Formats: sequence, structure tokens, C-alpha cells
Amino acid sequence: MVRVRFAPSPTGHLHIGSVRTALFNWLYAKSQAGVFILRIEDTDQKRSSDVYMESILQDMKWLGLNWDEGPYFQSKRFDLYRSYAQKFLEKGLAYKDGEAVIFKIPDEKIKIYDLVHGEIEVDNALIDDLVLMKSDGSPAFNFACAIDDIEMQITHVIRGDDHISNTNKQLAVYNALGAKPPKFAHIPLILGPDKAPLSKRFGAVSITDYRAMGYLPQAMINYLSLLGWAPGDNKEFMGAEEVIKKFSLKRINKTGAEFNLDKLRWINGEHIRKLTLDEFVKVGLDFIKPECGEAWFRKFAELYHGRVKTLVEFKEEFNIFISDDVKYNEEAVEKFLKKDKVSDILNITKKRLEAIEPFTQGNIEKEARALVAELKIESADLIHPLRVAVTGKSVSAGIFEVLELLGKKKVIARLGSILNKTT
Ligand code: GLU
Repeated sequence: MVRVRFAPSPTGHLHIGSVRTALFNWLYAKSQAGVFILRIEDTDQKRSSDVYMESILQDMKWLGLNWDEGPYFQSKRFDLYRSYAQKFLEKGLAYKDGEAVIFKIPDEKIKIYDLVHGEIEVDNALIDDLVLMKSDGSPAFNFACAIDDIEMQITHVIRGDDHISNTNKQLAVYNALGAKPPKFAHIPLILGPDKAPLSKRFGAVSITDYRAMGYLPQAMINYLSLLGWAPGDNKEFMGAEEVIKKFSLKRINKTGAEFNLDKLRWINGEHIRKLTLDEFVKVGLDFIKPECGEAWFRKFAELYHGRVKTLVEFKEEFNIFISDDVKYNEEAVEKFLKKDKVSDILNITKKRLEAIEPFTQGNIEKEARALVAELKIESADLIHPLRVAVTGKSVSAGIFEVLELLGKKKVIARLGSILNKTT
């Protein structure tokens, strides 16, 4: 039975690199009908915090990366590490330095069989003795990690490349205890556009940030699964079930995977479109928390469902409808409002719109078409300025639908105020 673990340290919000590690473990467990374990590595009590721990658990739940066992907390397992350290002392494999317990790593060559990188040989003669327990009574990272992997019967350790340099030390712990080591799969780091490991310099790095930026969990899962892995059939837009079906450790790349925000946005847009209208309304209500009627929100959601790539974009569109203060895009104003005859056209349009009852898309469109014919102008001469006047932007959903949804009062008020400004 495959048993894997995700072992974050609660010293910050969950970094997207860590999420990708959690995800690959989860995918592997699911694809093998194995067990996915969550272990919180909080031995460094000064740097760990409950706030981060909670945030990690929240993010995992939000992403749907449900664990089968745990969370285990290393901070609650000090007795266990102490008893193992005692074994090392009894066998003469370790010595004490004050309160600290230090393991004399045998001088020998160690082979790491890595499922991604192949065989890696390390000469342990070149490394120092390894602290097992620190003088303050807490276990050192490599020791606690190896002991837990043994105790939890982990079969595959899937983690970031940055831990390759710990593996020979952890293997020495396994060997000293006569324990069978797990298989290792060290996955390549996620790189920023500058090809350096993704860092805050690049912008958002925690999953909490992406959530706030309006990305859906299923899009994050889809996109992050493609960072360092590919299904081999050029397919990119996938749900979790499909990724699970196709996932294999063999297809993990050796080299760094570059984070590409445009691609994430594209994938997010696809996942938004894949939602049913009911689902999209629910997600939108959760994100925007609007103070408007649900029927109205549903109409609005229907209008923009196919047009937005993130929930933040959706919220921006929403604000255009709700706000009393339209933000005018300068370029759009220059291009469509500062033209001859525009104020005449908008003036008469305003009068005609005022008279429409009921103020429905169909009625508005009929009146607009009649006006265009009457004034002997092109539809574009009316529609573009009208759109900029009521939304502030040169792009929107269909203008007649937008007008109906805005409602007569707002449309007339906005036209009035823009006419005051431009004439
Ligand atoms: N706690 C370690 C980290 O957050 C992970 C250790 C491991 O996966 O072996 O980087």
C-alpha cells in the first residue's frame, strides 16, 4: 500500500511550491489507491505559529487536498524522537554533547535511488556528524523527519529538490536503525520568469494570495499539476479526476518548471466557463458578497460568465454596475466621447431611453435601432459612446443587456452626469 506524506512547516502561508508538493503527493496517493498523510513539522517553536498552521489547513481544504491521516504534529512527538535518540546512544552510534545527542554518521558512500533524478551517489565521509536532538530538547529536522517517515511507514517521499541535500543524512538514520528506506522523488523547483526560484520579488507566492486574486481551487490544481509534470498528450485543461487518472511519477521532469501567470489565467477562465450558472453564481456570491438581490445577481452572472478569467475581474465588472461613481477610462473617453456630435447623440438618446417602459433589452434595442435610422448614423456611432458613457469602458457585455441590468435610473443619471461634464 502506497503511503505518502506532505510535511509543511507552519512558518508562513502555504507557498505555491509547497502546494505543488502536496498536490503531487495527493495525486500519487489517489492514483495508487494509497494513503495521503498530513504532518505538520513544527519542531521549531520559535518560527512556527498557530496562525500559519490554521492557514495551511484552510488552504488544503479549499484546494480539496483532503488527507486520509493526520494532521500529526511533530511538536507532540518529542518523546518518540527522544526514545529513538536513546537507541542511538545505547548502540554506541551517537554521543552526547551537553544535552545534545549527536550521530556519528558512518564514513561510507550512500546511493540515493531517486525516481526523478535516477541514482545519486553521496560520500558521507564528507559530511559532519548529525545532530539528532538539540540541547534544548527538540529534535533536529533531519532526525524528526526520518523517524516519522519510518514510524508512519512512508513508502514514497515526494518533495522539492531543495531536500536532495538532506536525503543522504536521512538515509544514514535509516541504515543505523536497520529500517528500509522509502523511495524518493525529488521534484523540480518552480521558477519565476527570471528563471530563479519563485520568490516574493515575482509577486504573489502564497496560495492565499491566489485565492484573493480570484483563482478557483480547481484551476490551481489543474495548473500546478502541469508544473513539472505533463500527461504526455498535450492536454492542459483538466479536472482533478482526469489528472489523477493520468498521473505518474515517471513523467515528472528533472528540470525547473516556469510559473506562467498568463497560462494560469487562461486555465482559470476555462474552469470558470465549465461551471454551471448555478455554480458560478454561488462562487461569485461567496467572492463578492454583494448587497443586491439574488435574481439580479444571477442575471449579471449570466451576462459575464463567459467573459471573465478571474473572480477579481468579475468583481470589477460588478462594481461598474453597482458603484455610483463611474471610473472613466481615459483612452475610451478620448476615442469615443470627444468627438463631434457625440453630445447631441447622447442627449437625444437619453431622452428616448427615459421614455422607454418597461426598460427591457428588447425595447431598448428597438428604440436604439429606430434612432440610428432617424439620425442617419451608424449603429457604432451610438453604441460606442453610449457604452463608454454608462460603463466608463470601451468593452462590456452586450450593451442592451447591460442597460437593462443597470436599470433606467442609473442609465439616465450616468448619461446626465457625463453630458454635464462634456458639454
Ligand atoms: N518540512 C519540510 C519543509 O517544509 C519538508 C520536509 C520533507 O518533505 O521531507 O520544507
